[in-house]
Amino acid sequence: MPSLPKAQRRPWQAAPAKRVYEQHAARSPEYSTARWQRAREAQLKRCPCCAECTKQGRTTVATVCDHITPVRLGGAFYDPANHQSLCRPCHQRKSASEGREAARQTGTLPH
Ligand SMILES: [Zn+2]
Repeated sequence: MPSLPKAQRRPWQAAPAKRVYEQHAARSPEYSTARWQRAREAQLKRCPCCAECTKQGRTTVATVCDHITPVRLGGAFYDPANHQSLCRPCHQRKSASEGREAARQTGTLPH
């Protein structure tokens, strides 16, 4: 039986989510530090399921370590108490709504 090439990405979710994550990384150089990589991995190990999906009764593997209180609103960057595991679609939704929230507070549009 011929083996199929391994799928490299999921066009319906991976590409746009990656862009969001890269925007995040562009905003704060701390996202590329080894300390953050360790904190992120520790969080995903501690809570491998997406917190938002769990609330809605779904079980989804989390791939993103999210700041519950956004860093720009005073959330601690490395504090595990401010970390939650999210899947990419949930993280994107949260980031999008935070962008709108920030726009309301500062009177500027997010993009
Ligand atoms: Zn989710």
